[in-house]
Amino acid sequence: MQQGNIGVTSENIFPVIKKFLYSDHEIFLRELVSNAVDATQKLKTLSSVGEYKGELKNPKVKVSVDKNAGTLTVSDEGIGMTEEEIDKYINQIAFSGAGEFLDKYKDNANAIIGHFGLGFYSAFMVSNKVEIFTKSYKEGSKAVHWSCDGNPNFELEECEKEGIGTDIVLHIDDDSKEFLENNRIQELLTKYCKFLPVEIVFGKKKEWKDGKEVDTADDNIINNTAPAWIKKPADLKEEDYTAFYRELYPYADEPLFHIHLNVDYPFNLTGILYFPKVKNTIELQKNKIQLYCNQVFVTDSVEGIVPDFLTLLHGVIDSPDIPLNVSRSYLQSDSNVKKISAHITKKVSDSLQDIFKNDRKQFEEKWDSLKIFISYGMLTEDKFYERANAFNLFKTTDGQYYTYDEYKKLVEANQTDKDGSIIYLYAADPDAQYSYIEAAKAKGYSVLLFNDQLDVHLASKLEQKNEKVRYVRVDADTIDRLIVKEDAAKVELTDAQQAAMTKIFSSQAPKNDKADFIVSLNAMGAEAQPVVITQNEWMRRMKEMSALQGGMMGFYGSMPDSYTLVLNTDHSLIKDIVEKQAAELDAKVAPINDEIAVCKKQVEELKAKHKDKKDEEIPEVEKDAIKTQEARESELEKQKTDIYSQFAASEPKVRQLIDLALLANGMLKGEALSEFVKRSTNLL
Ligand code: ADP
Repeated sequence: MQQGNIGVTSENIFPVIKKFLYSDHEIFLRELVSNAVDATQKLKTLSSVGEYKGELKNPKVKVSVDKNAGTLTVSDEGIGMTEEEIDKYINQIAFSGAGEFLDKYKDNANAIIGHFGLGFYSAFMVSNKVEIFTKSYKEGSKAVHWSCDGNPNFELEECEKEGIGTDIVLHIDDDSKEFLENNRIQELLTKYCKFLPVEIVFGKKKEWKDGKEVDTADDNIINNTAPAWIKKPADLKEEDYTAFYRELYPYADEPLFHIHLNVDYPFNLTGILYFPKVKNTIELQKNKIQLYCNQVFVTDSVEGIVPDFLTLLHGVIDSPDIPLNVSRSYLQSDSNVKKISAHITKKVSDSLQDIFKNDRKQFEEKWDSLKIFISYGMLTEDKFYERANAFNLFKTTDGQYYTYDEYKKLVEANQTDKDGSIIYLYAADPDAQYSYIEAAKAKGYSVLLFNDQLDVHLASKLEQKNEKVRYVRVDADTIDRLIVKEDAAKVELTDAQQAAMTKIFSSQAPKNDKADFIVSLNAMGAEAQPVVITQNEWMRRMKEMSALQGGMMGFYGSMPDSYTLVLNTDHSLIKDIVEKQAAELDAKVAPINDEIAVCKKQVEELKAKHKDKKDEEIPEVEKDAIKTQEARESELEKQKTDIYSQFAASEPKVRQLIDLALLANGMLKGEALSEFVKRSTNLL
């Protein structure tokens, strides 16, 4: 019997392994099963080239739990190890700068294991003793037994073993008893080993008999040894892709499209990506792309490896060239990973382009679900933005789909304003903005449907990238001011009449801290509505974006919504009010106006006199005179406002017209709505 000390420079590696790798303990199983699979595949290779002459019938890897003995065993029928090999591969662990490295990556077991080639030693994360029983395929080899109880001392001796291969026996630690539970092991094998290339057997298949679950004669095989992604696309049918999707995500809806990745230069990468059908964003985050390394599951957090917007896709990526033994931040700066990421982006946009070209009908049918990925990609990846322009679709409120170029051609002639900008009109909510959409259509305009959070962001990006292009929501202004073609029709009211109407309607506009209303007058034609509410495009967009982004933009988010109450001076109801207020109020207001004019004149004269004087040269009496006049003037203004407010309050039509406009926008609610109903009844 040989006794010795495991060749590590660190005093005692095992406490370190245990302590630092706590959160990822479960991966020991992945490491041991992977080793077993490697050993099996090596034997298959040796057999195929004639170096191993023995009989080879479908060697399997077996995992078993003996709860009474407190052991978990991973057995393979692979190449096994000779005594010398145990010494070389197991006893001598290359170890350098251990402390420093462990400190740096203490939260990342993959990093440590990858760095040290500690795969086998991860067994000590969950065991107080590990044994190896192994017999090499090499002719004349004797079986050997290695055992180590968690300090750097090991024992190595000859033993009896029938077939070639290796059994790794873990004596599970008290604090890791969970790994003696069949369910837990089944779960871990399913997670990490589902697509390993050698059959993994864990007990027998179960069936229900007489109300009890009993073993059948068949092996319970965990894995699919030939998953779709390792096959050639030419050998797969559409239903094979769908079936594989099912295998990955049993409860998800059918995917929209798949993309088969297959690269062997300048790096190795295979995989299948699926565009999922998205019902809500929570679901989006639940099922994730899985990252494999030679069919061994590594992680389902692929951030940094694929571009952000593609992390929303489903499927698998398998690459031995992604350095898994490093931190995430390092990954993002690694040039190989950057190339992989760029390649995936290109491949995805090429595939979408192909589908669009070859089957536009299908593409359009799936567009509504597809759109979120494309928008997100265009917003976050410039390379993708450029490629996606060819297949990014605009949907109109009539349900037609156009590419950017097609749509531009469609609207260019009729929707270019007098400054040569093309104005793209859109609606966010076709029901709420119904009357505006109708008004736009009546002018022969087309209206896009932007009902997704990202649409307006994308519109902003398109405005930046394309000159003389603006996106404007249909309710951002009155129809003739949305797309200003020639100078707009003139309002034929005197300044005094305009001021009066502004005061009258302002006094009746809703007052709260969520919405601000300003009154403006516009000659919209006798057929248009008497009062229309519009919402400034820029202010609204700022608010919407701040809602999405927070932070710097928060200021806009806390501002009230700003609306404009536009009075149509061509409408007879508005004309009536203009006349009525003139008849009733002009006589009352005239003397006030005269007095205001006097105040103004005096202030002006005094200010003219003081123009070139320094403050201390102006006599105090004159300074006081200005103050008095200004105070008087604002008092008179207030009197005037009161007169108009009283008129407005006694004139139900004013409030009625405002409420009708609010109602048309879905903005009349609660008490205001109920008052409106009462007032309407009275008016009738
Ligand atoms: P790695 O697998 O990264 O090389 P490990 O610590 O997991 O590191 O294993 C070290 C070596 O021990 C392997 O390279 C292999 O040569 C040998 N080995 C481990 N497990 C087995 C096994 N089940 N059968 C044969 N050889 C094995």
